[in-house]
Amino acid sequence: MCRRILVVEDSKTFRNFLKQQLQQGGFTPVFAANVEEAQLLIAQDNNFLCAVLDYCLPDGQDGEIIDIVLGCNIKSVVLTAQFSQAIREKVLAKGVLDYLLKDSAESVSYLVPLLQRLQANDQHKVLVVDDSTVVRNYLVNLLERQNLTTVEAENGNDAIIQLSKHTDISLIITDNDMPEKDGITLTREVRKLHSRNQIAILGLSASSDDSMTAQFLKAGANDFLYKPFNQEEFNCRLHHILNMKDTADKLYRMANQDALTGLWNRRYFFNQQCKPHCHQPNIAMMDIDFFKKVNDTYGHDGGDAVLVHISQLLQRHFKDAIVARFGGEEFCIQLCGPFDTFQQRLELLRRDIEAQQITYKNGHIQVTMSVGAVSANADCFDIDGLLSIADKRLYCAKENGRNQVVSTTP
Ligand code: GH3
Ligand code: MG
Ligand code: MG
Repeated sequence: MCRRILVVEDSKTFRNFLKQQLQQGGFTPVFAANVEEAQLLIAQDNNFLCAVLDYCLPDGQDGEIIDIVLGCNIKSVVLTAQFSQAIREKVLAKGVLDYLLKDSAESVSYLVPLLQRLQANDQHKVLVVDDSTVVRNYLVNLLERQNLTTVEAENGNDAIIQLSKHTDISLIITDNDMPEKDGITLTREVRKLHSRNQIAILGLSASSDDSMTAQFLKAGANDFLYKPFNQEEFNCRLHHILNMKDTADKLYRMANQDALTGLWNRRYFFNQQCKPHCHQPNIAMMDIDFFKKVNDTYGHDGGDAVLVHISQLLQRHFKDAIVARFGGEEFCIQLCGPFDTFQQRLELLRRDIEAQQITYKNGHIQVTMSVGAVSANADCFDIDGLLSIADKRLYCAKENGRNQVVSTTP
């Protein structure tokens, strides 16, 4: 991920100020004091996340640097000393991301979050829904300028189809008045399956009906804008929605993932249900053998290295399952499907673990795993009941000499 920011600014004081701000924000600023220096830097390496350009430079006093930098396909933010409506419009029309005033530290403090947003945007895919090709093209252009990936749909029905094809869509921007299915109906349908935190929705409408905002918000949209909108307002709202989404995602991960291994935790495991058509949930409880000895021999860090390595192996063997760390060196897998296949895969996993030479410092650590497996049947289908049987079978595996999979109750 590129963190380089090209800064073209003739004031040394302001360059120093930006240097400190950008470095604190996690970026690598590269400085030019005029147009000529900027051209040399770009010729050497034009891989920049974004450029921050002073409108007025000694060798280009009327925004000449903007065309040069945009012409090299580098995204740009423009800084100017004084506000002028004419310059603002001219600059935004050229296709720069934003226009900031250098009148105070506060207005420049908007720059770093803007760049951080730009950097995080490559994680987001946006579905643009509008029956007008012109509007879609305009929106797609605004979004792609911000590093966002886009998918298009021409009405609500088409949007539902695109959503099922692209399961990684995190934001929908939708018009209301469209043939086949309108935006408000689409919003209601999406909300039956996805919360505001899972897929954000920004409603748009050119309608003169002043209840449109309320209608969209009540249907479950995160925000709403009347068309035609001001580009800066659109960007501010877009950033706000995506920042909220990223914060919600982070909180979700913190609440549901194990910090050391990245596996799901117990809480997540119990909140999950089997796939809608699953007739046969299988559960495996597993526990690393003599793990205390690993800690005693290699220290706690050695033990942690083993936990991370084994977790990765579990994920590789069971990509299609829910793999959770239940605590300590205890893991649980839930997978739908035939029990005999599940048992075979567990046996392969057990052998693979046994064969691993886990590198730690200058040596290798070897461990084995005991597993208790169970499948749902007429007598027992609920997760708590299955877990209790799997746990008993895990205990049998330990009693019988460890390093084995037990799939029946003796
Ligand atoms: P058994 O074969 O019967 O399972 O023996 P064991 O030694 O694996 O089992 P025991 O439950 O006695 O020991 C588990 C150890 O795991 C004790 C605990 O200190 C250690 N442990 C728990 N969580 C962590 C962790 O996050 N990191 C490390 N390094 N060790 C942990
Ligand atoms: Mg153990
Ligand atoms: Mg244990």
